[in-house]
Amino acid sequence: MKMTNKIIFGIDIGGTTIKCGYFDDKGNMAGKDEIPTRKENGGQLILADVADYIRRIVDEQGLSLSDVMGVGIGVPGSVRDDGTVNKCVNLGWGVFNVPEALAKHIDIPLENIAVGNDANVAALGEYWKGGGKGYSSIMMITIGTGVGGGLIINGKPVNGYNGAAAEIGHIPFVDDLDFPCTCGKTGCLEQVASATGIARMGGRKNAKEVFDAALAGDKDMEAVVEKVSMYLGKALAIAAGIADPECFIIGGGVSAAGEYLLEKIRKYYREYAFHPSRDNKIVKATLGNDAGMYGAARLIYKAD
Ligand SMILES: [Zn+2]
Repeated sequence: MKMTNKIIFGIDIGGTTIKCGYFDDKGNMAGKDEIPTRKENGGQLILADVADYIRRIVDEQGLSLSDVMGVGIGVPGSVRDDGTVNKCVNLGWGVFNVPEALAKHIDIPLENIAVGNDANVAALGEYWKGGGKGYSSIMMITIGTGVGGGLIINGKPVNGYNGAAAEIGHIPFVDDLDFPCTCGKTGCLEQVASATGIARMGGRKNAKEVFDAALAGDKDMEAVVEKVSMYLGKALAIAAGIADPECFIIGGGVSAAGEYLLEKIRKYYREYAFHPSRDNKIVKATLGNDAGMYGAARLIYKAD
């Protein structure tokens, strides 16, 4: 398919792969690809690889770089509003300005390059085209190896002073733990509600085994899922006490447990939430691994 209109790139840089998507001027995804994240040399090759991808697609589409409306990028780390990253450990990156660095590899004006934290960018994708479509404000909770969060209020990602807003995984409110979280503290939501935490609590290889056993009627595993849901429901109630988002969106690998898990989270959320927020929605994410590309493109696409 040849695109006659302008093209937008939505790039989601992860620790293993870079998910690259391109979009037409209506905001529809027109194609996507995955390239490996080359972390050697302090991650210096990553943006060069992104630039090569952009050039390749622009060529394939018979376009030129001046047709590129912009490039949005999600990165796994905190990002200041000017696009400066502060140590993306997963990429080997230190502190530098991402738009300036990308512009050294490809002739795209700085003002057409936007960068955001990957969790916020995924939340923006779900808000725009996924489970959060139609809601004024959303908070996305991504439950995978860790527990990430992103907050969108009236169409804008809320980054916070340090780029650490909505880091719901590290809300410290679990009292009875005696081992440290990946962040160094003890008592974080992530320790009990991540896929890793769920598997540990259930004494199983992975979270899926815990859910499968619970669904098959294993009482011990049912109790684990109940406890996980209680922690998640309580954490969402805490988040509602601060941001009161119209809708919570649950994504990440653990969200594959679907309504079985969501119903339990809703039950505890209603129990813990301050009464005006009690009926806020809790739904499943719908874009899967594409959310980051959509959200990155949305950093550029401002038409609706
Ligand atoms: Zn933590």
